[in-house]
Amino acid sequence: MNFLSQLTGSFAQPCAENPTVAMVEAAYQHHGLDWRYINCEVAPEGLGDAVRGARAMGWAGFNCSIPHKVAVIQHLDGLGESARIIGAVNCAVRRDGKFIGENTDGKGFVQSLEEQIDPAGKSVVMFGAGGAARAIGVETALAGAAQITVVNRSPDRGEELTALLNEQTPAKATFVQWKGDYQVPAGTDIVVNATSIGLFPDVEARVPVDLESLTSGMVVADVIPNPPRTRLVRDAESRGCTVIDGLGMLVNQGVIGIRYWTGVDVDASVMRARLEEIFGGEG
Ligand code: NDP
Repeated sequence: MNFLSQLTGSFAQPCAENPTVAMVEAAYQHHGLDWRYINCEVAPEGLGDAVRGARAMGWAGFNCSIPHKVAVIQHLDGLGESARIIGAVNCAVRRDGKFIGENTDGKGFVQSLEEQIDPAGKSVVMFGAGGAARAIGVETALAGAAQITVVNRSPDRGEELTALLNEQTPAKATFVQWKGDYQVPAGTDIVVNATSIGLFPDVEARVPVDLESLTSGMVVADVIPNPPRTRLVRDAESRGCTVIDGLGMLVNQGVIGIRYWTGVDVDASVMRARLEEIFGGEG
């Protein structure tokens, strides 16, 4: 007898080893799910055809990465709430025959945050105002954060994200232009690096923050998944902070995507272990 696997996948750019494929397939195998997750290298001009192809072939959904996260929206049938506010989709889900765009990056981040601290009513400092910061800022605000300070090098992007948070979420957001080492204000509960500083191969690049202003009551989260133990994570740990590495966000967005597609809650530790094999768990 033949079983047709259910198909899910990723529309991405060429990549030697795709960690997301390895991570998702590890979960499918661990849970005996007769599903496959396939990486398809899609050029920007082929994106519409790729979505129509996935629809025609009955895919249950797919992830899409840069540069497709915004452009894919015009090819989808609708958007989830946070994807609409963020203005970007990294996960499409087939619901009643329609592809609905979701953003699981921010949801994955909040899930790993909630394992350490409830963001409701908390004061957050977030470095960065790019795609990851938009997703994290919106979801953290929707999870009830009271105050979000957006610290960014370029004022345009920083002010745009601050306005978005103030207009579309219940949180109060303020913008600070990043000049020199940032002093994290006393009373801050959560500090997030949502920039690309520290990403392999620039592993010793330093997030410009005054380490003396990091105190032991703070939770410090880094989005960088490779390497997981970034310089910021190590420095914050040495200051006694609770730290969250970028693997948490990556794993949890995967868990949420798989739940959307299959209805199954998979074991996050299996996925994390597979990523640690690829990226290394120690810094
Ligand atoms: P973008 O290019 O959209 O944004 C990059 C941000 O980093 C901008 O705010 C930029 O500031 C800032 N930045 C970059 N270099 C510097 C620097 N030297 N000094 C100060 N600020 C700097 O990227 P994304 O938001 O899409 O991605 C950011 C990171 O998040 C990536 O490293 C990616 O790997 C990671 N990520 C992790 C995920 C996970 O699951 N763990 C998921 C998604 C992303 P400016 O506006 O001034 O240029």
